[in-house]
This record gives sequence, C-alpha cells and structure tokens, in this order.
Amino acid sequence: MDCLFCKIIEGTIPSSKVYEDGMMLAFKDINPQAPVHVLLIPKKHIASADAVDAENVEYVSHIFLKIPEIAKSLGLSGGYRIISNCGEDGCQSVKHLHFHILGGKRLSEGMA
Ligand code: AMP
Ligand code: ZN
Repeated sequence: MDCLFCKIIEGTIPSSKVYEDGMMLAFKDINPQAPVHVLLIPKKHIASADAVDAENVEYVSHIFLKIPEIAKSLGLSGGYRIISNCGEDGCQSVKHLHFHILGGKRLSEGMA
C-alpha cells in the first residue's frame, strides 16, 4: 500500500519521533502550524476517523490514553488542540488516521 504514514511507521521515510510504542507513533509535523505541532498515528492502517470500527477502535483509545503523557512531555501545560481532518470536506491530505496536537501558544478561536 502506498501510504506515507505507513512508510514512516516502517522507517523507510524518516521522521522526528517524539513518542513510540507498539500501537502508535508520535512525530513532528514537517510543516508546523504552531510552535508545537505533533502528529499521532496508529500503527495500523486506518484510513480516517470515518473508518474507525469495533475492531480497530483500540488503536484510537490507546492514542487518547497516551495524549496527556505526550502533551506533558511536549511542555503543553497551558493546553493544546487536537484535530483530525477527515475526508474531502475535512481537507484530509494523508489517508492514514492521524491526530494533530497543536500548542505552545494561545491558539486562534476559530475552528472552521
Ligand atoms: P492532514 O492535512 O490533516 O491530512 O495532515 C497531514 C499532515 O501531515 C500535514 O500537516 C503535513 O504537514 C504532514 N506531513 C506530510 N508529510 C509529512 C512528513 N513526511 N513528515 C511529517 N509530517 C508530514
Ligand atoms: Zn497507512
């Protein structure tokens, strides 16, 4: 499968990792939109939030279980934003489920 984030998981495309375990990987976004901009991805190819189901939801819950720990390690004591773009209207560019963690400054109020 020709998936950029699967290649990052395999290590065939390099990334700047901030956290990794058996179920997920967190790495710095190549085009940061805030002082801290990290992507959290499951180590299983799930196309988007719209493809989450009873069989793969454990990967999603695992990511959310780890978010507080990862946010703390990134110094995000003032808070942060979690975003997952989904599908065409959501402007999802990489078709492997990912959660953006943005922070390190006071973010804009708008979301759409
Ligand atoms: P989205 O638009 O929600 O699909 O987000 C995809 C994100 O992946 C964008 O913020 C890109 O900057 C980021 N991205 C694309 N290629 C890479 C890469 N090789 N390493 C790190 N981040 C990447
Ligand atoms: Zn993938």
